[in-house]
Amino acid sequence: ARLANQIAAGEVVERPASVAKELIENAIDAGARVVEVQAEQGGIAGLRVRDDGDGIARDDLPLALARHATSKIHHLDDLEAVATLGFRGEALASIASVSRLTLTSSQDESGLGWAVRTEGRDMAAVIEPARHPRGTSVEVRDLFFNTPARRKFLRSETTEFGHLEEVVRRIALVSPQVSFSLTHNQRVLWQLKPATSEAELLRRLGQICGQPFVQAARPISVETAGIHLHGWMGLPTFSRSQADLQYFFVNGRMVRDKVVSHAVRQAYADVLYHGRHPAFVLFLDIDPGAVDVNVHPTKHEVRFREQRLVHDLIYRGLHRALADLRP
Ligand code: ADP
Ligand code: MG
Repeated sequence: ARLANQIAAGEVVERPASVAKELIENAIDAGARVVEVQAEQGGIAGLRVRDDGDGIARDDLPLALARHATSKIHHLDDLEAVATLGFRGEALASIASVSRLTLTSSQDESGLGWAVRTEGRDMAAVIEPARHPRGTSVEVRDLFFNTPARRKFLRSETTEFGHLEEVVRRIALVSPQVSFSLTHNQRVLWQLKPATSEAELLRRLGQICGQPFVQAARPISVETAGIHLHGWMGLPTFSRSQADLQYFFVNGRMVRDKVVSHAVRQAYADVLYHGRHPAFVLFLDIDPGAVDVNVHPTKHEVRFREQRLVHDLIYRGLHRALADLRP
């Protein structure tokens, strides 16, 4: 319980997109190379995430659905330097409590595994044999079927799917080594191949962020005192559609931060005109001890120990990349 109390806040299952985020992050934590996301009706009626990761042992299946059961933290110190994406051990439990959930998994190549099914708070999970290749599938049906008050806050199928797609986009950006597919109402929308070379990365970036962004994108890579900033800087644009093309990841986690946006705005303002929408996909790799990511687990907040250093690195990297864009 003490451990639980030291963790900033509980998991919030707000909408299909938040379910998708937790399930996909679990897949990646499990070492998946292939992740398939299938949604029905914006993810409200159905959402399935299937991976080819390590899988879950038969006896651990009910545990995976139990609150505060995580296989990812062993000491309090781990909270300081969380290496995996999930660490709070309540996502699956929370999702299971507001949906009809089936968790199927296999740890070997036999084609056989085990499944547990739950319906809302009725958590008396029965373990049954099931066909499944090595890896895990989580199927979430009828989100909020037992909590009408929360269901009422869901938007249209299209809006909910838009949020879900954005979640996949963000995770796909930080996990270029993972192949992703996204299907909505039986239609395959995305198929992203793993990318390692610069050319493959650019191709994948184009699929995720659109060709206009990629065509004008400038690569960035700068480093200071063990902090590495890399990624792409787009041509600033008046176009609203690019207004949201602002991705900043700190150690793989999407972040919105005043220090970051200030540095970006300043770099743009110094080189180009005001009033445009910066577009960027940037990754900051920094010693986990030099950044506090536990400010709030769902709000994308972060606190750098050395704000000035980070600010100046971003400014310098962007300024350099933008300088040769000057008309
Ligand atoms: P957390 O990810 O914070 O540990 P979750 O509630 O998301 O908590 O998951 C609980 C546990 O279930 C995980 O710690 C992990 O052991 C197991 N688990 C969940 N999803 C998967 C998956 N796709 N592959 C393998 N194990 C999983
Ligand atoms: Mg998790």
